[in-house]
Amino acid sequence: MGKRAQRNRLVQCYLCRHRFEVGARAMTVSCPECHKPLLVQDVVVKTLQAVKKLQTCGSLVVQKKGRVIADLVEAHGGIEVIGTLHAKSVRGSRVRITRTANWKGDCHASSVQIEPGATVEGGYFHVPDRELGVEDLLET
Ligand SMILES: [Zn+2]
Repeated sequence: MGKRAQRNRLVQCYLCRHRFEVGARAMTVSCPECHKPLLVQDVVVKTLQAVKKLQTCGSLVVQKKGRVIADLVEAHGGIEVIGTLHAKSVRGSRVRITRTANWKGDCHASSVQIEPGATVEGGYFHVPDRELGVEDLLET
């Protein structure tokens, strides 16, 4: 670890929408408002991950051999799908569905990029959808 000063970053609780600062390297925190444990780190899925909910204040990358099967997927820092993502509902800021991706599920996002060759098996795309209200938290 270097001696570079760590800047805090602003996150938004995905349960109660309260905003607060966390350390740059924080992975999990308790929300100061609803006191629930929150995932704030960036998530990279490399294998099968079958869960009810996959939520993070960070970003989500589903790698080529990664498969996410879930009811709800929410990532405030953006979502990139290179492998498979099947969910009833996906909520992200920016969503990128690459040419090797296999996507199924409703999508609520401020923007979506679908590369030619990507497989979208189904889903209703609500775009732009700014219900999450996290766009101003994105760094770029
Ligand atoms: Zn909260």
